[in-house]
Amino acid sequence: MNYISTRNKNIKISSAQAIKQGISEEGGLFVPDRIPSFTIDEICSMTDMSYNERAFFVLSKYLTDFSKDQLSYCTNNAYTNEKFSDCKIAPVVELEKGFNILELWHGPTCAFKDMALQILPFFLTASIKITDEDKTVCILVATSGDTGKAALEGFKNVEGTNILVFYPELGVSNMQKLQMKTQEGNNVNVFAIKGNFDDAQSGVKKIFIDENIKDELEKRGYMFSSANSINFGRLCPQIVYYFSAYCDLIEKNKIKPGQEINVVVPTGNFGNILAAYYAKLSGLPIKKLICASNKNKVLTDFINTGIYNKNREFFATSSPSMDILISSNLERLLFSLYENDDKEVLSLMKQLSEKGEYKVSDKVLKKLQESFAGGFANEEETFNTIKYIFDKYGYICDTHTAVAIKVYLDYKEKTKDDTVSVIASTASPYKFPDNVLKAVLGEKADLNDFELIKKLSDVTKTEIPAPIKELESKKVRFNNVIDKTEMKKAVLDLLK
Ligand SMILES: *Cc1c(COP(=O)(O)O)cnc(C)c1O
Repeated sequence: MNYISTRNKNIKISSAQAIKQGISEEGGLFVPDRIPSFTIDEICSMTDMSYNERAFFVLSKYLTDFSKDQLSYCTNNAYTNEKFSDCKIAPVVELEKGFNILELWHGPTCAFKDMALQILPFFLTASIKITDEDKTVCILVATSGDTGKAALEGFKNVEGTNILVFYPELGVSNMQKLQMKTQEGNNVNVFAIKGNFDDAQSGVKKIFIDENIKDELEKRGYMFSSANSINFGRLCPQIVYYFSAYCDLIEKNKIKPGQEINVVVPTGNFGNILAAYYAKLSGLPIKKLICASNKNKVLTDFINTGIYNKNREFFATSSPSMDILISSNLERLLFSLYENDDKEVLSLMKQLSEKGEYKVSDKVLKKLQESFAGGFANEEETFNTIKYIFDKYGYICDTHTAVAIKVYLDYKEKTKDDTVSVIASTASPYKFPDNVLKAVLGEKADLNDFELIKKLSDVTKTEIPAPIKELESKKVRFNNVIDKTEMKKAVLDLLK
């Protein structure tokens, strides 16, 4: 199987090359040239498997140039009980008949980003071998919170790699900042930037395309790569857990083999829900993909009207990882809906960058709506949902998951569609203790971060995840605050 660019399908490369490169040179995203398929029998054969084995089974059809040994090395080392606090890795919790939560946050940083960023470093080291690359790969990350920490944890002490994370000094939560400042590992570096997330992001992009830096680092034996969800290596591990959830439902007799389910995903950059779409194209019986947005509901509008318009007010919400107006992975969906028409995708992306808006054809809108439904939750609804779910089921969820649950309940009410549903839960409530506690108690508690998590634990009778609890006693290793103009120098100084 080959990987082709969404903006020029004549560019054909192997999966290892796609993972190493991250993004195509003309700005397109790599996608498989055909989607592999799974029969219902094959899917059922996974019910008896561990998460690792399921991951191996699914990924072997996507990463065809990896040897069996290489791939099983990746899956076995990524999804261990040392790194994940739940033995099922991604457990499914049933709140009520047909209403299931897929918990994706039992990894080392307590967000779903771990599901992909724990395995991406292994993919990358394998890809370096497969493509005969002799350079050390330097991962540059600009983060607004979750991605930076998850990438640091994934890449720490991984041979042949080096990771540098830049975050906005004032743009991340206290807990997220502390998670990054205390990062351990001999190949990691963290910088706070005097500026906002956009400054960090554009600084990193500038370094990526700076020919002088590239040449200089090549001489020193380094090359750059990306750990963002534009990298297909970050996307494919996310396909796995939808298969795994389906198998768990069969195993628990909640569905029969072949029976359709609905999947609900709290969405930002469209990576997670796109993985569910690929699972559906691969033969997993998914009826509807329900795309949940917060107040930044650009995707809800797109699914309902076929018009994507980013020219609108931006809201900072209590579900910050979904505060996004340009969902970059939507490009991969468009490529699929337009039946791999790269010219059409190029034209739409050009309209997006020039006018901030585009409209898909009626035919494509119809196809979109056959597979997807979209909805959103505002701030009040998000807080009310956390409380409602806690009061009714004794289950505590984070703000992002609450958005998805609200959209699911609305969808069910409106359509009377009572298909068995799986809601992707993307973060531990302990990553957002102030807002979660405020939702449960009805008012903001005047406590510091560690008092907040203790209180949340007392009130909800749930355990504080170890990686969050440990932060209190961890040594701060990175206190660097640099000007955004110093990013290039920081990179050159570090990579000696
Ligand atoms: C990144 C993130 C999301 C959004 O996922 P996408 O793949 O970007 O759509 C949702 N919730 C949490 C907690 C996240 O960290």
